[in-house]
Amino acid sequence: MARPTTPAEAWAELAAGNDRFIAGDREHPHQDVHDREALADGQAPFAVFFGCADSRVAAEIIFDQGLGDLFVVRTAGHVVDPAVLGSLEFGVGVLGAPLIVVLGHDSCGAVKATIDAEATGDLPPGFLRDIVERVMPSVLTSHREGDAEPDDVMRRHVRETCQLLAERSTVIADGVRNGTLAIVGAEYALAEGRARVVTEVGTAGATA
Ligand SMILES: [Zn+2]
Repeated sequence: MARPTTPAEAWAELAAGNDRFIAGDREHPHQDVHDREALADGQAPFAVFFGCADSRVAAEIIFDQGLGDLFVVRTAGHVVDPAVLGSLEFGVGVLGAPLIVVLGHDSCGAVKATIDAEATGDLPPGFLRDIVERVMPSVLTSHREGDAEPDDVMRRHVRETCQLLAERSTVIADGVRNGTLAIVGAEYALAEGRARVVTEVGTAGATA
Protein backbone atom coordinates (compact mmCIF):
# COMPACT_ATOMS: atom_id res chain seq x y z
CA MET A 1 0.00 0.00 0.00
CA ALA A 2 0.99 3.66 -0.27
CA ARG A 3 3.02 5.09 2.56
CA PRO A 4 0.70 6.25 5.37
CA THR A 5 0.78 10.01 5.76
CA THR A 6 -1.57 10.59 8.72
CA PRO A 7 -1.44 9.28 12.29
CA ALA A 8 -4.59 7.22 11.69
CA GLU A 9 -3.28 5.68 8.46
CA ALA A 10 0.01 4.86 10.15
CA TRP A 11 -1.65 3.12 13.08
CA ALA A 12 -4.00 1.21 10.76
CA GLU A 13 -1.01 -0.10 8.79
CA LEU A 14 0.77 -1.18 11.98
CA ALA A 15 -2.34 -2.84 13.40
CA ALA A 16 -2.78 -4.78 10.15
CA GLY A 17 0.87 -5.87 10.27
CA ASN A 18 0.51 -7.02 13.87
CA ASP A 19 -2.58 -9.03 12.91
CA ARG A 20 -0.57 -10.77 10.17
CA PHE A 21 2.22 -11.53 12.64
CA ILE A 22 -0.19 -13.01 15.18
CA ALA A 23 -1.83 -15.14 12.51
CA GLY A 24 1.52 -16.42 11.24
CA ASP A 25 0.78 -14.78 7.91
CA ARG A 26 3.54 -12.19 7.53
CA GLU A 27 4.14 -10.56 4.14
CA HIS A 28 7.74 -9.53 4.90
CA PRO A 29 7.28 -6.27 2.93
CA HIS A 30 10.15 -4.13 1.67
CA GLN A 31 12.89 -6.64 2.31
CA ASP A 32 14.20 -7.63 -1.12
CA VAL A 33 17.13 -6.42 -3.20
CA HIS A 34 14.99 -3.93 -5.11
CA ASP A 35 13.79 -2.27 -1.89
CA ARG A 36 17.29 -2.15 -0.47
CA GLU A 37 18.65 -0.43 -3.56
CA ALA A 38 15.70 1.93 -3.99
CA LEU A 39 16.02 3.12 -0.38
CA ALA A 40 19.72 3.90 -0.58
CA ASP A 41 18.94 7.43 -1.72
CA GLY A 42 16.72 8.32 1.20
CA GLN A 43 14.21 7.25 3.81
CA ALA A 44 10.67 8.28 4.68
CA PRO A 45 9.55 5.97 7.51
CA PHE A 46 5.84 6.24 8.34
CA ALA A 47 6.23 5.58 12.06
CA VAL A 48 8.74 6.18 14.81
CA PHE A 49 9.11 3.47 17.42
CA PHE A 50 10.30 3.97 20.94
CA GLY A 51 10.32 0.59 22.60
CA CYS A 52 12.02 -1.63 25.10
CA ALA A 53 15.25 -3.17 23.83
CA ASP A 54 14.05 -6.67 24.83
CA SER A 55 15.14 -9.18 22.17
CA ARG A 56 11.59 -10.49 21.87
CA VAL A 57 10.07 -7.12 20.98
CA ALA A 58 11.57 -6.37 17.56
CA ALA A 59 9.36 -3.72 15.95
CA GLU A 60 9.78 -4.68 12.30
CA ILE A 61 9.04 -8.34 13.00
CA ILE A 62 6.00 -7.99 15.27
CA PHE A 63 4.40 -5.34 13.02
CA ASP A 64 5.44 -7.08 9.79
CA GLN A 65 7.30 -4.13 8.28
CA GLY A 66 10.53 -3.84 6.33
CA LEU A 67 13.37 -1.58 5.26
CA GLY A 68 12.53 2.12 5.34
CA ASP A 69 9.20 1.64 7.14
CA LEU A 70 10.01 2.28 10.80
CA PHE A 71 12.46 4.59 12.53
CA VAL A 72 13.27 2.64 15.67
CA VAL A 73 14.70 3.83 18.98
CA ARG A 74 14.98 1.26 21.73
CA THR A 75 16.43 1.25 25.21
CA ALA A 76 15.92 -1.11 28.13
CA GLY A 77 12.61 -0.06 29.65
CA HIS A 78 12.09 2.67 26.98
CA VAL A 79 13.68 5.34 29.19
CA VAL A 80 13.89 8.92 27.97
CA ASP A 81 17.14 10.87 27.78
CA PRO A 82 18.36 13.70 25.52
CA ALA A 83 19.71 11.34 22.84
CA VAL A 84 16.37 9.54 22.74
CA LEU A 85 14.46 12.80 22.42
CA GLY A 86 16.82 13.96 19.69
CA SER A 87 16.37 10.70 17.81
CA LEU A 88 12.58 10.90 18.06
CA GLU A 89 12.64 14.53 16.95
CA PHE A 90 14.72 13.49 13.93
CA GLY A 91 12.18 10.80 13.00
CA VAL A 92 9.26 13.18 13.37
CA GLY A 93 10.65 16.59 12.51
CA VAL A 94 13.17 15.76 9.77
CA LEU A 95 11.88 12.47 8.33
CA GLY A 96 8.23 13.46 8.73
CA ALA A 97 6.76 10.37 10.37
CA PRO A 98 3.17 11.09 11.51
CA LEU A 99 3.13 8.59 14.40
CA ILE A 100 5.22 7.69 17.46
CA VAL A 101 4.56 4.32 19.05
CA VAL A 102 5.78 3.76 22.61
CA LEU A 103 5.98 0.02 23.12
CA GLY A 104 6.20 -1.72 26.47
CA HIS A 105 5.71 -5.42 27.07
CA ASP A 106 4.77 -7.93 29.76
CA SER A 107 7.49 -9.46 31.96
CA CYS A 108 9.75 -6.45 31.32
CA GLY A 109 13.11 -6.89 33.07
CA ALA A 110 13.71 -3.15 33.41
CA VAL A 111 10.34 -2.66 35.12
CA LYS A 112 10.98 -5.67 37.37
CA ALA A 113 14.45 -4.40 38.32
CA THR A 114 13.00 -1.01 39.23
CA ILE A 115 10.21 -2.52 41.32
CA ASP A 116 12.87 -4.57 43.14
CA ALA A 117 15.08 -1.50 43.66
CA GLU A 118 12.17 0.44 45.10
CA ALA A 119 11.30 -2.43 47.46
CA THR A 120 14.83 -3.06 48.71
CA GLY A 121 16.42 0.38 48.40
CA ASP A 122 19.33 -1.21 46.52
CA LEU A 123 20.14 0.26 43.11
CA PRO A 124 21.95 -1.90 40.52
CA PRO A 125 25.62 -1.16 39.67
CA GLY A 126 27.07 0.72 36.71
CA PHE A 127 24.84 2.32 34.14
CA LEU A 128 22.05 -0.12 34.93
CA ARG A 129 21.38 2.34 37.70
CA ASP A 130 20.64 5.00 35.08
CA ILE A 131 17.93 2.82 33.55
CA VAL A 132 16.35 2.08 36.92
CA GLU A 133 16.42 5.72 37.97
CA ARG A 134 14.57 6.68 34.78
CA VAL A 135 11.88 4.03 35.26
CA MET A 136 11.55 4.89 38.97
CA PRO A 137 9.08 7.82 38.64
CA SER A 138 6.56 5.47 36.99
CA VAL A 139 7.11 2.87 39.73
CA LEU A 140 6.64 5.47 42.47
CA THR A 141 3.44 6.72 40.85
CA SER A 142 2.22 3.14 40.53
CA HIS A 143 2.99 2.54 44.20
CA ARG A 144 1.05 5.63 45.19
CA GLU A 145 -1.90 4.72 42.97
CA GLY A 146 -2.00 1.13 44.22
CA ASP A 147 -1.11 -0.75 41.02
CA ALA A 148 -0.88 -4.39 42.04
CA GLU A 149 0.98 -6.26 39.33
CA PRO A 150 4.27 -5.64 37.53
CA ASP A 151 2.37 -5.48 34.24
CA ASP A 152 0.15 -2.74 35.72
CA VAL A 153 3.34 -0.83 36.46
CA MET A 154 4.50 -1.44 32.88
CA ARG A 155 1.22 0.01 31.53
CA ARG A 156 1.62 3.05 33.72
CA HIS A 157 5.21 3.42 32.52
CA VAL A 158 3.98 3.37 28.91
CA ARG A 159 1.46 6.13 29.71
CA GLU A 160 4.02 8.18 31.63
CA THR A 161 6.52 7.81 28.79
CA CYS A 162 4.00 9.07 26.23
CA GLN A 163 3.23 12.09 28.41
CA LEU A 164 6.91 12.75 28.99
CA LEU A 165 7.62 12.86 25.25
CA ALA A 166 4.82 15.35 24.69
CA GLU A 167 6.01 17.50 27.59
CA ARG A 168 9.73 17.49 26.94
CA SER A 169 9.87 17.88 23.17
CA THR A 170 8.55 21.03 21.51
CA VAL A 171 8.69 19.32 18.11
CA ILE A 172 6.50 16.48 19.36
CA ALA A 173 4.14 18.78 21.27
CA ASP A 174 3.69 21.03 18.23
CA GLY A 175 2.96 18.05 15.97
CA VAL A 176 0.34 16.72 18.38
CA ARG A 177 -1.24 20.15 18.74
CA ASN A 178 -1.65 20.71 15.03
CA GLY A 179 -2.80 17.15 14.34
CA THR A 180 0.06 16.03 12.09
CA LEU A 181 1.41 13.72 14.79
CA ALA A 182 0.01 11.35 17.39
CA ILE A 183 1.58 9.13 20.02
CA VAL A 184 0.19 5.67 20.64
CA GLY A 185 1.29 3.83 23.77
CA ALA A 186 0.96 0.07 23.46
CA GLU A 187 1.71 -3.06 25.44
CA TYR A 188 3.04 -6.11 23.69
CA ALA A 189 2.09 -9.58 24.95
CA LEU A 190 5.13 -11.81 24.49
CA ALA A 191 3.35 -15.15 24.13
CA GLU A 192 0.34 -13.93 22.15
CA GLY A 193 2.15 -11.47 19.92
CA ARG A 194 -0.58 -8.84 20.25
CA ALA A 195 0.21 -5.14 20.69
CA ARG A 196 -2.73 -3.61 22.60
CA VAL A 197 -3.30 0.10 22.86
CA VAL A 198 -2.79 1.53 26.36
CA THR A 199 -3.10 5.22 25.62
CA GLU A 200 -3.19 7.76 22.83
CA VAL A 201 -1.89 11.32 22.77
CA GLY A 202 -3.40 13.25 19.90
CA THR A 203 -5.58 11.39 17.43
CA ALA A 204 -4.60 8.20 15.67
CA GLY A 205 -7.91 6.38 16.06
CA ALA A 206 -6.08 3.64 17.97
CA THR A 207 -8.37 3.70 21.00
CA ALA A 208 -11.56 3.87 18.95
ZN1 LIG B 1 11.49 -4.68 28.63
